[in-house]
Amino acid sequence: MNSINQIWAVGRNYALHAKELNESIPKEPIIFLKSANCLVINQNKIALPIWAQQVDHEVELAILLGDNLQPSHFGLALDLTERKKQSEAKANGLPWTLCKSFIGACPITELLKIEKTTDLSQFSFSLRVNGELRQEGKVTDMIFSIPQLIEFLKSHFPVQPGDLILTGTPAGIAPLKNGDICEVELGSLIRKKWEVAQKA
Ligand code: ZN
Repeated sequence: MNSINQIWAVGRNYALHAKELNESIPKEPIIFLKSANCLVINQNKIALPIWAQQVDHEVELAILLGDNLQPSHFGLALDLTERKKQSEAKANGLPWTLCKSFIGACPITELLKIEKTTDLSQFSFSLRVNGELRQEGKVTDMIFSIPQLIEFLKSHFPVQPGDLILTGTPAGIAPLKNGDICEVELGSLIRKKWEVAQKA
């Protein structure tokens, strides 16, 4: 699964998360690109950039698009975000590239194939830090459903098979720090642990 082309990420797709950022509920999906070169695959460490002041975890259901531009695989991703830089960018009307696409900004679990019996709409997932529950997401709580997101992407962007969608983060985002153990889970299907370290 090293051939992911692009990462299309969705902002504010859970109402409680929009609220914790003091942002309004969007009327159409908010899409931003995250560089696919940020992906961290098959590793047990999260490296925080040395220049970063506040890197928040955002656990998200990740959907890989197959040949017909329909979901083919799923996994969990961390849309790591440098929140200080993002707040500056928002205040100044500047792009988000630095806060969203720094080196190592997208640790991801293995991607599992979607079978005929897989019902994405019933998925729920969580993130724990040092054993404490921080984020819990249910697909049914998304403001824009997975089919709506795909329709929106297809009608506005050059999406291709092999592109990954990060479907937005639920409430509970918080900063990661050196030595944290970050663990994500999706039912009995996915479980993955990373150790957080500041990168020299
Ligand atoms: Zn996100």
